[in-house]
Amino acid sequence: MTNTKNTYKGIAAAPGITIARAYQYTKKIEKVQDELISDIDEALLNLDEALNKSKKELLKVFSLAVDKLGENRASIFEAQIMILDDPVLIDTIRRRIKEEKRHPEFIVDDEISKYQALMNEAQEAYMKERSHDIEDIKNRIIRNLKKKKWQSRITNDVIVISDYLTPADTVLFARVNVKGYITNFGGLTSHAAIVARSLNIPAIVGLHEATNKIKNNDLLVLDGFHGTVIINPSEKQINYYREKIEQLRIYDEELAELKNEPAVTTDNKEILLQANLDLTEEIALVVQNGAKGIGLVRTEQLFQEYDVFPEEEVQYNIYREIAEKVYPEKVIIRTLDVGGDKVLPVDVKEPNPFLGWRGIRFLLDNMDLFKTQIRAILRGSEHKNLKMMIPMVCSIKEVRKFKKIVDECKEDLRERGLPFDNDIDLGIMIEVPSAAVMAREYAEEVDFISIGTNDLIQYLLAVDRGNEIVSDLYQEFHPSVVRTIGHIIKEAKNTGKCMVSLCGEMGADTLAVPLLVGLGLDSLSVSASAIPTIKKIIRNLSYEETRALAEKCLTFRTEKEIRNELIQFFDNLQNISVHKIF
Ligand code: PEP
Ligand code: MG
Repeated sequence: MTNTKNTYKGIAAAPGITIARAYQYTKKIEKVQDELISDIDEALLNLDEALNKSKKELLKVFSLAVDKLGENRASIFEAQIMILDDPVLIDTIRRRIKEEKRHPEFIVDDEISKYQALMNEAQEAYMKERSHDIEDIKNRIIRNLKKKKWQSRITNDVIVISDYLTPADTVLFARVNVKGYITNFGGLTSHAAIVARSLNIPAIVGLHEATNKIKNNDLLVLDGFHGTVIINPSEKQINYYREKIEQLRIYDEELAELKNEPAVTTDNKEILLQANLDLTEEIALVVQNGAKGIGLVRTEQLFQEYDVFPEEEVQYNIYREIAEKVYPEKVIIRTLDVGGDKVLPVDVKEPNPFLGWRGIRFLLDNMDLFKTQIRAILRGSEHKNLKMMIPMVCSIKEVRKFKKIVDECKEDLRERGLPFDNDIDLGIMIEVPSAAVMAREYAEEVDFISIGTNDLIQYLLAVDRGNEIVSDLYQEFHPSVVRTIGHIIKEAKNTGKCMVSLCGEMGADTLAVPLLVGLGLDSLSVSASAIPTIKKIIRNLSYEETRALAEKCLTFRTEKEIRNELIQFFDNLQNISVHKIF
């Protein structure tokens, strides 16, 4: 249904299907005056007023964002407000206006553009995307210097088409019930995309030339699952998508009914279905979607939120809150996993960060930070539902050091008279091939292991997990990946004492679920929003059949054979319409 002449494809940024009229949103880029000025006092006064006005506007967006997105996600706007308050930036602008006697618009443009240039130089897509946010601030101040009003007039129930959307646009449009977003530029990590996902508004980004192809008021079908848009669809196309929207609605209702049911196969094998937690706000969704606890808390987020790694008391309160909210279910807190594609808290340039100072290596070299976190997790374990896990383990020595440090931290807390769970379970992530090879020996050292397929696949296949050029080679069904996962599970389970979980994105791939169940995992941890779908699949599987499927997949030599086998398996499943809908 998608390969027709009026259909275009971009990057699927937020899921969902919507049919609505197009609204072309053109951002006005303010022209900058570069003239000499005679009245410096007036220019400085004008600058102050423009900064104040810009701040007021952003505060308004911020409070709206807090309502719609929660404190954490709204912090994007706080960061923008902080730039307006940056004394170094503002002092430089003021000084240059006085010294150069040039129009404030020019100086503001010049100074903020330097910030942007720095961000554009960065390697990471994330930083590049942030430079668009800075563009927004620059335009805002210049518009206010010109004393122009802020306009984002838009009617209800439209799909917004634009070159690029800022997070502020995305939040403001949501207020008037926008049905979807399509942009020419931007990637999955753009804040506009993140915000659209949080607001549950279907979106496509990176649809180059979208604004040329689509005219105002065109009728559009936006498919946020596949990143496709149909311009002025035929009657047949509309009917096809209306049906899909209806199927989705029914499917959502069915899923909601499963909330309190276990993720158990038809022949009674239960899989502990847990959620991954990146932001504390997501806990509501974890509970609402009926997860059996949390299989991965990525604590890196705390560092990004607080700018420095928070002290013991602050961390303790956060961990305790998470533990209490999901009690009596269990929570696995992963100690800080920085480095690689995640920003390091110190200013070090590494030639090859993915093979550098990552995860446990960084922690063992920063003992104060590591111990602070371990003490905070231990203190949060008072109700006996926390577990602790370390990332990027490459040697048994690291595991033993970790256990020794945990013992030292327990001793500290005893001396301080603070309660904690003395029997707290300790585990490791298996995400490096060397650890996979020795899975049995590692499993003998710890209480549980969790397979991090996101990294394991990249290290096993030597394919960067975030590099578009080689993304075709990043294959979760590569025979070596499937066999490695099978090997880890078998070896770890042979110890008879170690629980085996998987917390990479592969766990949320519907096609992979029967294979992973058949390979014998005890637990799967996926994003909270994926829980209902994965549960529904597991409840329709026969463990016996998945075991046979897994055995067969372990014999194949190519990715294609495995994929085809899994597709065929799915096609034969009763009651699973899910992959047919999406
Ligand atoms: C993984 O590597 O699979 C994983 C879950 O960790 P992260 O994605 O945080 O690196
Ligand atoms: Mg990882």
